[in-house]
Amino acid sequence: MKLIRIDRSTIRKNPLAGRTVVLVPGQRSATFSLRFIAPPKEMQKWADVFTEMINGADCRVFHTFFNNGTVVIEASIEAAADPKELASRVRARINKEPILAFRGIEAKMEQEVDRRSRMGGEPRFLFEHENPILACDNCGGRFKRTELQSDCMDYGDGDEIFSDTICPLCGEWNCCELEFERLKPEMVAHLE
Ligand SMILES: [Zn+2]
Repeated sequence: MKLIRIDRSTIRKNPLAGRTVVLVPGQRSATFSLRFIAPPKEMQKWADVFTEMINGADCRVFHTFFNNGTVVIEASIEAAADPKELASRVRARINKEPILAFRGIEAKMEQEVDRRSRMGGEPRFLFEHENPILACDNCGGRFKRTELQSDCMDYGDGDEIFSDTICPLCGEWNCCELEFERLKPEMVAHLE
């Protein structure tokens, strides 16, 4: 049995300690809708002109409709794109055409949030274990702890076996016996 010690220098307070649900920032996206008034006979033509102008690597028109002489073009924007910059380009173009009347641009940013939950709450302290050289009980080869492999085998009848101590050299399962040191109050006394 080999004891894997906690690396004392990595012990730190967890800023999310105690929370049972942690929100992690996810995908960002934005949509914007452009409205302008065009002569009824020319609405489709101008919708096409602006669609072409808006479509690009970071922006894609997904919906166009007409409502009371107003053309509405809705587009989705990549998170990295700047909807304000796009809006001012479009507005400048509309202002050059005396037959068009600008009715505004609305931009909506959305940030997805992923929830991660943990029974009993996030731990108070974070730390890493040391990474000593280990020896395989089967082949005698030497390697670092983090080189150990893990795998799980399913026998098809619901029985599953798992090992996270597979020798990286000979492939032996449970090639060494490890005991991981647990955090003790005296290790974190100076952080309290
Ligand atoms: Zn081995």
